[in-house]
Amino acid sequence: MSEEAQPEFVTYNVVDGVAWVMLNRPQYGNAQNYRLLGQLDDAFKRAVEDDGVKVIVLGGEGKHFSAGHDIGTPDKDSHMPRTRTSMWWDHLNKGGAERQYVLEQDGYLGLCRRWADIPKPMIAMVQGACIAGGLMLAWVCDLIIASEDAFFQDPVQRMAQPGVEYFAHAFELPTRVARELLLLGRRMPAQRAYNFGMVNEIFPRETLREEVTKIAAEIAQHERFGLALTKQAFNFVEDARGKRQVMDSVFHMHHLAHAHNQLMTGNLVGGLDAKAMASANKKQAGEG
Ligand code: ZN
Repeated sequence: MSEEAQPEFVTYNVVDGVAWVMLNRPQYGNAQNYRLLGQLDDAFKRAVEDDGVKVIVLGGEGKHFSAGHDIGTPDKDSHMPRTRTSMWWDHLNKGGAERQYVLEQDGYLGLCRRWADIPKPMIAMVQGACIAGGLMLAWVCDLIIASEDAFFQDPVQRMAQPGVEYFAHAFELPTRVARELLLLGRRMPAQRAYNFGMVNEIFPRETLREEVTKIAAEIAQHERFGLALTKQAFNFVEDARGKRQVMDSVFHMHHLAHAHNQLMTGNLVGGLDAKAMASANKKQAGEG
C-alpha cells in the first residue's frame, strides 16, 4: 500500500502565548473522525509542552464549530488503525460489544477526560453548530465563548442512545433543561445556553475571534502554575459532585444501548445514518 499524505484535520498556531487549535474539516462541518481526534490530541500535547503557551483556544474553521462525530463522511475511519492514548487494546480485531466499547473508551470518553485535565486554561470558540460530539469538545474547555448564531444540540436520542459518550449534560445545565436537551433533541440557541451559564459570552460572528483573542490575552498574563491549580480546583469540585461516577455509569448504559441496537437492528445507532439525522433535523427545524 502506498503511503498517503495525512490529511490535516487540525491546524496549530501560537500567537502571543495563545495556542490556536482549529478543527479543519469545514467541508464536513468539522465532523470528528478518529484521525482528527488523534491530531487534536497531538496539538493539545504540543500546547501543554510549550512553556510559552499559557492559554489554548479550540475553534473550528468554516461555518460550524463541529457537527459531531463522523457518522458518514468519506473519511469516516472507525475501521482503521488508530494511535491510542490510554492502555486499552486495539479494537480492530475484536467482535461483539467489545469492539465499540474499547474504541469509545479510548477514543471518546478517554480523550475527553484527558483533555479536561489539561493543566492550561482552554477556551472553546463556538460558531454555528455544536452538535453531539461537538458538545464534548466544548464541554472539556474552561470557557465557552459563542457567536450569536451558535447553537447546541444533542440529538443522539434519535439513535436510541442516552446522549453522547461524555455525559456532562446535567453538570452543564439545570436538570430540567438537560432532560429537555436530550428528550427533544432540539437546537439550543447560544442566548439560551448563556442564560443557563453554559456559555460565558456571546459576540457577533464577525468579531468572535477578536473578542476571544482579548479574553485569552487577559488570562495569558497570569502565572502558569496558578492557572493550572485554579483549573484543577474546579475539576476536583466537579468530581466531588459526582461527574466522574455519573459519566462512568452512563457510558455503560450508552454501550448497553449500542449492543441492544446492534441486536435489534443490526446497527449500532438503530440504523440512523448521517442522512437520516440531517433530514430529521430539518423536519424538526421546519416544525419550529
Ligand atoms: Zn457511542
